[in-house]
Amino acid sequence: MTVKEYVQSEKNRLANLIKEKNLSPTLVIIQVNDDPASASYIRGKIKDAAEIGAKTIHDKLPEDISQAELIKIIQKYNDDSSVHGIIVQMPLPKQINEEAVKLAVNPKKDVDGFHPLSTFSPCTPKGIIKYLKAEKIDIQSKNAVIIGRSNIVGKPMAKLLLKENANTTILHSKTKREDMEFYLAHADIVVVAVGKRYFLDHSFKLKEDAVLIDVGINRHDGALCGDIEPDLNVRLQTPVPGGVGLLTRISLMDNLLEATVENEI
Ligand code: NAP
Repeated sequence: MTVKEYVQSEKNRLANLIKEKNLSPTLVIIQVNDDPASASYIRGKIKDAAEIGAKTIHDKLPEDISQAELIKIIQKYNDDSSVHGIIVQMPLPKQINEEAVKLAVNPKKDVDGFHPLSTFSPCTPKGIIKYLKAEKIDIQSKNAVIIGRSNIVGKPMAKLLLKENANTTILHSKTKREDMEFYLAHADIVVVAVGKRYFLDHSFKLKEDAVLIDVGINRHDGALCGDIEPDLNVRLQTPVPGGVGLLTRISLMDNLLEATVENEI
């Protein structure tokens, strides 16, 4: 099943759940920037929500808003029982501390999974695990290698892979090339989240039955490309575009539904 087919089946599942249980999931998207990439991500989220029958409130705030004012607005949505999920689109302007904003969102409505007490897993790693399971890829006792140790991808990915009992290794910019070659040659599952075009390429020896998950989004000559060179000789490799980006988006809807079910039933 391609990622696109899987995501469509998940959308159908969520849409049916909303209808069957007569739910009215509502997601608030707060935007405090004029960034074109953010605008495009937000359009995608609004479209996904509409497709499954969820409501979105897009609250675009002025870029010169103070941190205190922004937190007050977040608290208003925290207290509004008709709102089930709240996300604050990053990046934020300089005068606002990202951590303070993440901590201001009620953990029960933090569908991005950024709050340390959030009831939800961050969307990218969650989407990847669910896709691996849908593809019937064994995780338990397998060698999983993650390249990249960010708080939104690498670290939560390691946590979820450990939960599934994978032998989990995280590599990063200080890992020596010879060690990276060693770990990759033994890897059954490789997740690359570096942010460098074709970082993982044919110069690395990989298992023929390895599964490669490409998280990277890089712009090159006006086109999107991943962190992994396309068409490596492996069992499965997720494409860019049309791969992890879609898995991340569907996980947000999945988390929104979980938040709604928790509050409405
Ligand atoms: P990030 O915060 O910039 O982290 C990048 C990680 O890559 C860091 O841990 C860094 O190591 C590591 N790294 C950099 N150069 C390296 C090298 N030469 N060898 C090994 N490791 C190296 O990035 P991020 O937020 O995790 O995002 C990574 C990529 O995924 C970006 O392209 C981003 O746009 C994309 N992304 C996609 C989605 C999606 O939905 N598809 C979601 C989130 C992110 P150090 O820690 O040592 O610096």
